[in-house]
Amino acid sequence: MIDNKFKLGFFPTPVHRLSKLSELFPDYNIFIKRDDQTGLASGGNKTRKLEYLIKQALDMDYNTVFTAGAQQSNHCRQTAAACAIAGLECHLILRGKEPEIYQGNLLLNHLLGAKIHFTGNDKKEIDFESYSNSLGKNKKPYFIPYGGSNIIGALGYVQAVKELKKQLDDNNIKIDYIFFASSSGGTQAGLMLGIDLYHLDTELIPIKIDKDETAGLDMEEYILDIVLKGKKLLNLEKEYTISDIKLNKDYNEAPYGVLTDNEKTAISKMALSEGILLDPVYTGRAFYGMLDCLENKKISPGSNVLFWHTGGLPALFEYADGLI
Ligand SMILES: *Cc1c(COP(=O)(O)O)cnc(C)c1O
Repeated sequence: MIDNKFKLGFFPTPVHRLSKLSELFPDYNIFIKRDDQTGLASGGNKTRKLEYLIKQALDMDYNTVFTAGAQQSNHCRQTAAACAIAGLECHLILRGKEPEIYQGNLLLNHLLGAKIHFTGNDKKEIDFESYSNSLGKNKKPYFIPYGGSNIIGALGYVQAVKELKKQLDDNNIKIDYIFFASSSGGTQAGLMLGIDLYHLDTELIPIKIDKDETAGLDMEEYILDIVLKGKKLLNLEKEYTISDIKLNKDYNEAPYGVLTDNEKTAISKMALSEGILLDPVYTGRAFYGMLDCLENKKISPGSNVLFWHTGGLPALFEYADGLI
């Protein structure tokens, strides 16, 4: 199961110490996992999920992929790239009206050959069937949920824990806390399952990015549902309940995609101290949360902390106005 994937990225992604930041916060030893460097059309966490999703689509003889998201969705951009590689027709359903100028991820979707549909003013839950019905009979559509977050996609992050554990063991490093941006939940579900499957002794601190619920469920319920499916698939003994799903909601005051001073602070701190670029929507918000926890000693001093960089670079270019 865990080895049944279609190669889309370059793995393992690097893990390294952030020495300047560790100097700025002398109570902590700070590391980063570079999933912004997965290599698929500017990288990001969706590459790992798509390796499993695209494999399933190919194995089951689908020839067309549908997915959906915000106009600057990194998931949609990486899905477009994955489909180009796999020879699948890619349809993206994006929220809102078509803008005059295509920038950031939207521009890349176009270059990667995706067929783009805009929902316009329609705010309803996206109905994939209604978009795919207009396709010819020889098209067999494979539907990928928001963010690629189902149990198939989450396997990418189960596997990612195995990858990280080897890197840490090889270098004799123990990580006490892992911070990352959690939105559609597949990354979080996969990391939770991977930690239990591969016995990595660490605590996850998922920073919640948006307030929205998915498919009528609270995010906690949605994530638990993926975790329970994974438990079955991977034959895990552990019992999971809703209280096992931790989501830090201290930093999602502003709506999804709205840039505030928090994200700007985080982006410039990382850029100026380490030369690493964060994105305005996910990693900027999550890294701000981590900085706040370090600054205010919300986690035990003396610990080793890892920031899991999940990508998102192209979205920066859509936020030029807000960032200068
Ligand atoms: C999608 C995304 C996330 C969130 O991952 P989920 O699995 O949807 O929770 C985090 N960071 C970036 C850059 C993303 O594109």
